Amino acid sequence: MKSKSNKIKLLYLLGSIFILPVAYSQNPSIKVIDTDFSKGRLTHQQPITLQDAEKLHGHLCDGLVVGFLGLKEGLYSLYPDSIIDRTNTRIVSKSSPCLTDIAVFLTGGRYQFNTFYVNDSLPYMFVVQRIDNGKAVGIKLKPGIKPSRIDEMGNKAVHQLLSSCELDELKQLEQNFSNQLLSTPPTSAFTIVPIPNFEWQPQPNHHFIKTDIINKVVPTCNKN
Ligand SMILES: [Zn+2]
Repeated sequence: MKSKSNKIKLLYLLGSIFILPVAYSQNPSIKVIDTDFSKGRLTHQQPITLQDAEKLHGHLCDGLVVGFLGLKEGLYSLYPDSIIDRTNTRIVSKSSPCLTDIAVFLTGGRYQFNTFYVNDSLPYMFVVQRIDNGKAVGIKLKPGIKPSRIDEMGNKAVHQLLSSCELDELKQLEQNFSNQLLSTPPTSAFTIVPIPNFEWQPQPNHHFIKTDIINKVVPTCNKN
């Protein structure tokens, strides 16, 4: 009898390792802590989901998914208790409208309070830093994770070189990539790099191009 129950336990173990797929949420969340009113104390905890970010940003896109999942990994490395203090975090982001929106939303960093700036010469998507202890990490996608076709078509799109139907094709490629990321262990998609002695060097540039509105008047694709 004992060996039979051990056998069952072994089967469960093997099943959990080799057979059963790991379920990842299609609407991941992180927990943040903020002050509890306009002059309040640091006691107000709440979850933020990818769908919340979608409302702020205007649409769901691969950049928002990449930013959300990558930042979650990076922020967890700075806050081991997995509660992100949005009063104690500052961030540098690449200029993509999707990355900058998720950067300020998840970290609480703001340009006007010198806790957020944009720098396209970073070798990362983001650098995020705890203000209290100075610890900083760079966050980037691992090589080969993002299909190169998305960047190829994306570069054409920002120069208005894609037809209506090609824009739809790019949208589908981005959706497939988002779905793939949402079902991938984050540790296999992102690299989190500690940056000792990170220097905060705000950039005053306000002239980045908002690439997600360039094609807003392109007619719908009509294949018939
Ligand atoms: Zn976007």
